[in-house]
Amino acid sequence: MTVHIPFDNSYARLPDSFYTSQSPSPVARPGLIAVNDALARELGLDPAELRSPEGIEVLAGNRIPDGAEPLAQVYAGHQFAGWVPRLGDGRAVLLGEVIDQAGQRRDIQLKGAGRTPYSRGGDGRAWLGPVLREYLVSEAMHAFGIPTTRALAATTTGQEVLRETALPGAVLTRVAASHIRVGTFQYFAARQDVEALQALADHVITRHYPDAATPLDLLNAVIARQATLIARWMGVGFIHGVMNTDNMAISGETIDYGPCAFMDAYHPETVYSSIDSFGRYAYFRQPEIAVWNLAQFASCLLPLMGEKDAAIAAATEAVHRFPDLYAEAWLTTFRAKIGLTLEEDGDADLIQKLLDWMAANGADFTNTFRFLSVDSVPDGLEEWARNWTARRARDRGDAAAVMAAANPAFIPRNHRVEEAIKAAVSGDLAPFNRLDRVLAQPFDDQPAAADLQRPPAPDEVVQRTFCGT
Ligand code: AMP
Ligand code: MG
Repeated sequence: MTVHIPFDNSYARLPDSFYTSQSPSPVARPGLIAVNDALARELGLDPAELRSPEGIEVLAGNRIPDGAEPLAQVYAGHQFAGWVPRLGDGRAVLLGEVIDQAGQRRDIQLKGAGRTPYSRGGDGRAWLGPVLREYLVSEAMHAFGIPTTRALAATTTGQEVLRETALPGAVLTRVAASHIRVGTFQYFAARQDVEALQALADHVITRHYPDAATPLDLLNAVIARQATLIARWMGVGFIHGVMNTDNMAISGETIDYGPCAFMDAYHPETVYSSIDSFGRYAYFRQPEIAVWNLAQFASCLLPLMGEKDAAIAAATEAVHRFPDLYAEAWLTTFRAKIGLTLEEDGDADLIQKLLDWMAANGADFTNTFRFLSVDSVPDGLEEWARNWTARRARDRGDAAAVMAAANPAFIPRNHRVEEAIKAAVSGDLAPFNRLDRVLAQPFDDQPAAADLQRPPAPDEVVQRTFCGT
């Protein structure tokens, strides 16, 4: 069965300095883990073709489909605030782009597809764990309605990858509005390559922000999307874990799921990443880190913004608008979580009191909100609930419906993701498939999956999540 992917590759038409042509490196024995049928159709692809032996070869990087122009993108970035002048796709190859059924341009990328000129010391590979984690978490994020890269497929390689031990290798087929990062701008800005910066800004405006007439418009638009995105993450208890500038997508999608996780018990200082020893990317720090990253982005655009002092003033003002935009998006998100549709001055305070109670009591973030949405108030929260009831009496919305749509019953709980990975490593994909299926409808009550709603028992808590690249 021939695999047809109607590529239209705009990134490959950018100057040579933007990437290196690079084919994926073939693997020993391609095997299928999953194909995302719904996403395949959305992209105008035939899921049956992707599942065929030829399709699996394409998804594992052993066969280049017609029209693909495989390449590795170059970028730079601040990793944990430390400047790295050249990063780039070290283990990912962009096959090309397609225009989806809605007319949107989407990247199709193989992650774990072998070494590239940007691999530095790495082997260019991924093991099954991070591939399944990204698959589950990115698809759950999409099911929550939060902008994110997607998972089109996962394959095994039949090869081992050497980490702390030898682990089964895998490849993730990732779909993104684009893979352009703050770090992509930083790469050219650091080289003072204004021509490249202009070409990149033009590309990004055409692709993601067609209403932006100037680089300042672009800056404002990117800031607005990030403010909403981070507020939405906060609303589902998501901790990205590695919010480096190279992991912040210009499109406003969540990108680069590494040691990320959703909180079980609520605490604002929660950190999961084993490499984040100072808690730089803790839950509550995410909005301030976004500002830090966006300030980097703003400074990259300065050479495109005309006279220097005026440009700096405008860019500074734009970045300083983030806290208000974020506060507004956060309130919108959390008002819905407690069923409010009208705005009152005391709302932020009411929400904060609930969160403070949750932190003090180690309440499960997801379940507390979900239970409140069926009017089930945990012990000790009665006083807060009286204020909440009084506030709701002044609201006109359908609180139950608003809350049911804002508070998922199911999140990819870390211990369940780990359990699914462990089973997959020993050849059993059933837990992965079940999680994937349940998380596709996270707002639905699914009594048969009640076990997946339960927070981890003390001995099941995952303290640290490893990057595992
Ligand atoms: P991350 O923080 O996971 O987004 O990765 C940071 C950088 O390291 C990116 O440029 C990756 O492409 C690169 N990288 C991560 N893992 C590997 C690997 N196994 N081989 C080569 N490059 C890698
Ligand atoms: Mg990255």
